[in-house]
Amino acid sequence: MKGIYLHIPFCRKKCGYCDFPSTDRWEEALLKAYIDAILRDMEASLPPWKDYTLYVGGGTPSILPPNLLERLLSALKELLHHPLEFTFEANPESLTREKLELMVQAGVTRLSLGVQSFNDRLLTVLGRIHTGKEALRKAAMAREYMDNLNLDLIFGIPGQGLQDLEKDLETALALEPAHVSAYSLTLEGTTPLVHQAAQGNLTMPPEEEWLQMFHLIPEILSSGGLVRYEISNFARPGRECLHNLIYWENGEYLGVGASAVSHLGGKRLFRGKDPRTYIQKISQGISPVVEKEDLPPRRKVLETAMVGLRTTQGVDPAAIEEKWGAEGGKLKAILEDLETQGLLERNRNRWRIPERLLPVANEVMVKVLEFKKPCIPVSKEVRQNAHRSIGKNYRRVH
Ligand code: SF4
Repeated sequence: MKGIYLHIPFCRKKCGYCDFPSTDRWEEALLKAYIDAILRDMEASLPPWKDYTLYVGGGTPSILPPNLLERLLSALKELLHHPLEFTFEANPESLTREKLELMVQAGVTRLSLGVQSFNDRLLTVLGRIHTGKEALRKAAMAREYMDNLNLDLIFGIPGQGLQDLEKDLETALALEPAHVSAYSLTLEGTTPLVHQAAQGNLTMPPEEEWLQMFHLIPEILSSGGLVRYEISNFARPGRECLHNLIYWENGEYLGVGASAVSHLGGKRLFRGKDPRTYIQKISQGISPVVEKEDLPPRRKVLETAMVGLRTTQGVDPAAIEEKWGAEGGKLKAILEDLETQGLLERNRNRWRIPERLLPVANEVMVKVLEFKKPCIPVSKEVRQNAHRSIGKNYRRVH
């Protein structure tokens, strides 16, 4: 199975923690030109795939006014025939009944709503522009149209107590979503929250409290039938996000739009970040790809192992060897060694991070990359690049 990702890099206002490729500087004419450009790009780049998922993410895809949303969705319907899963991302402030109806008519099968919290105080800290009440109302409305609804939540917010998180999780569960993503707030890049923290005006929850929150999430969500299948993702059985599973298997995907990344034929392709330049290039018939990386075999193996360890299924080195050849065979020795150190656990032919170590999963994954003894020499460059691409995949799931 392959994946197609479409990036809509526009938001009404940048959130305080947001280091994603998105901008709040746009006007309607730009949105229109951008939709035309991604459709042309898609037509020109689409591989002859039969089984694929489609994910329209951002940014805030629901920011598109109804006429442009209709244009995008009807063109996608013509171009792509029955994706196995069709996810559309939305934010509460711009989701309307009219847009939901257009999505259903166009075959969207899954909606991912950026709620983050139902608590007004915490939403203000995050710099979100919706209120808790609005999030609740729009999620309930989305639920009328979509059986397969994901709610995005954030935890570890400055000023958030355990009870606040418990309330957010209970409120989310009462909406009967098929899927919940619960990401820890991270301070990255040069965002306003990073700035506030540097000035001493922001206090992140103490480590012990953060850990309690981390453990509270599966406890409450499992009471509502949602099972963890990736560090930050929980689903009813059979409702795991197929598109994100492609990333965690290091599978192939086409990324269309400004900032989008593709992984095709063992290469990673990067499209330029600026939407205006992207539009200009497409209109002049110039390729929007600004960088190509040829991934050496050992890098493919390491990246596949690292992203696979995010999932509760873990990784099967034999399957990786089958996919990537001889370098994959060397991975088994690394996993066995980490198992001996108590950092991984084995279930038949698969290795995974034990539940007690999930809060420090990133450190365990880095150990896979930095493993020196047996077999796969890891240069500084490989390590940095692997981090970079994993970061990009990870972000796409926000
Ligand atoms: S967090 Fe999401 S909604 Fe907020 S600015 Fe970033 S992309 Fe836009």
